[in-house]
Amino acid sequence: LSAKAIESDAVVKPVSGLGSLATTSSSLPTPEDGSEPNRTLVVGGQGNYLHLADGRKILDACGGAAVACLGHGVKEVSDAILSQVATISYVPWGFLDSQSRRDLSKWLSQTSDGHFKKAWITSSGSEAMEGAIKLAHEYFVWTGEPQRVNFIAREESYHGITLGALSMGGHLVRRGPFESLLFSGVYRIPACNAYRQKLPEETDEEFVSRKAEELEQAFIQAGPDTVAAFVAEPVVGAANGCVPPSPGYFKAMKAVCDKYGALLVLDEVMCGMGRTGSLHAWEQEGVIPDIQAIGKGLGGGYVPVSAILASGKIVRAMEAKNATFTHGHTYMDHPVVCAAALRVQQIIQRDNLIDSVRSQGQYLEKLLRNKLLDHSNVGDVRGRGLFWGLEFVQNKATKEPFDPELQIARRIHETALSDPYNMALYFGQGCAGHAKGDHIMVMPAYNVTREVIDTIVDKLAAVVDDVFGKLEKKDID
Ligand code: PMP
Repeated sequence: LSAKAIESDAVVKPVSGLGSLATTSSSLPTPEDGSEPNRTLVVGGQGNYLHLADGRKILDACGGAAVACLGHGVKEVSDAILSQVATISYVPWGFLDSQSRRDLSKWLSQTSDGHFKKAWITSSGSEAMEGAIKLAHEYFVWTGEPQRVNFIAREESYHGITLGALSMGGHLVRRGPFESLLFSGVYRIPACNAYRQKLPEETDEEFVSRKAEELEQAFIQAGPDTVAAFVAEPVVGAANGCVPPSPGYFKAMKAVCDKYGALLVLDEVMCGMGRTGSLHAWEQEGVIPDIQAIGKGLGGGYVPVSAILASGKIVRAMEAKNATFTHGHTYMDHPVVCAAALRVQQIIQRDNLIDSVRSQGQYLEKLLRNKLLDHSNVGDVRGRGLFWGLEFVQNKATKEPFDPELQIARRIHETALSDPYNMALYFGQGCAGHAKGDHIMVMPAYNVTREVIDTIVDKLAAVVDDVFGKLEKKDID
């Protein structure tokens, strides 16, 4: 598994004949200059565009992995970073504090109506999930149930790349070589994927109660009083391409967790912080998590930042024991990171960008459905807010996926990135529970305009025609 496969979901094999990336074999850089094959040099960026060393401007339709929520080059954020560096650049988290950490923690608590009482500011989504898992277990140490060492998590999910987080995830490709190192105490249940799983005659209620029954059975199999938490992404991201839950799903799952005294840990690293049209994705589900991980949209890519958020229930248990969370990293609560994240969040709030996510998201959805859903190889268009995925199938009626050897999602990504399209899309392939799925994800910045959305969808439709046209003519390798 190469670094590139980890970054963008696919088992990477070179796809030739598409003339896609700027670095072709004739221009492969030598390792001595620090460069790597197939990683095109970006020299700048502004708004929705990335500027390449070869002079091309790439329309960023995905913000990396849903990271660049404000777009590129926002001076107010770089000013906040510079000002914090000039004030104090590093404060050890164990016994000293910074004002920027206090301000960000207060902001995270206030914007959840006081539900989250404490935030540990970390650097990556994996770190936040690793901490969230440990916190779930330590909560039970504090409350006298240390035997709760097991977790229930889902197929077609991704929770991070470090061992604990990887153990929670059902991302088969990324788990691959490490399978024997991962936790044995993770009980796996199917995802909630209506396109793939809901029977034609089934109502939403029936489908959701089937899902709740799967969770119930996992509790029984694990031994209900051994389970610390059910772990899930409210809207599935990298593992399967923006799959929202069916109506009532999280309420039903939370009821099962409550029945057995287990916690609900939500991973909003990708779908959170406004991406789906509410600050937290769970606000649309009628449930509140006990512990949550956030990441990408928290800092918009300006700094590496994520956070573990704990509800009052967790913090009260900790305080009752006069304990602290047995966890920490050198760069936890970093003042520069906190200052940058706070400024990103203040801009989102000031410019009403979550309202824009909702309205522009509706526009994006309409265009994607109108211009792509009729294509004979587009099986599903799904998502929420500015978080949209397209799943490609060989046969629309049977939903039969493509042969993974064809690397359809990767071809679409590479064709989009090439001239004349010059557009960045996120793609995933061969990683999900139905191991052959091909999907791409469209996740523009929250301040994207309708004109840019028009361009994204027009380009995407042209790329899809281009790739499947070549496939039909067998004009591919
Ligand atoms: N959880 C989810 C839902 C994610 O999408 C990701 C990253 N794609 C992670 C955790 C891990 O975050 P990171 O790559 O920042 O470690």
